[in-house]
Amino acid sequence: MSVNEASLERRLAAATLERAQAYWDLGNRELALKDFQEAHDYSADLTVIPYSKVIYQIGMEKQESGDLEEALQDLQFAAGLAPESEWKSEIQQRIKDIENEILIGETSTILRTECPNCGRSIQAKWKICAFCGKSLNTQAT
Ligand SMILES: [Zn+2]
Repeated sequence: MSVNEASLERRLAAATLERAQAYWDLGNRELALKDFQEAHDYSADLTVIPYSKVIYQIGMEKQESGDLEEALQDLQFAAGLAPESEWKSEIQQRIKDIENEILIGETSTILRTECPNCGRSIQAKWKICAFCGKSLNTQAT
């Protein structure tokens, strides 16, 4: 690609990015994302930070609404876009948080392994604690 073509691409990227941000501010995410993608195709280095930031924001909203798997996908995409930077580390940290949240969600369905009364190790099949006699019906508190 010639120097002129490269500079044209950058100008197109900047203009498209500006339009993407205007759409984003107006709340038209569909058009905003289309333009972010297009701007990114023109010039990745110019657009990668704002583009990854909107993907990140969408992912965080999904996390808040409890859609963790979808949130994880968005954040992984954002992290893939972002160059090595503090910003990328921040996304990666958030990815770990969400992965932990998913893990906790999965393990919380496993029965507790300690008696809530005496704190000793109990087996899931026990109906009462063998040590203190406390009822281990998980519905009761
Ligand atoms: Zn006990």
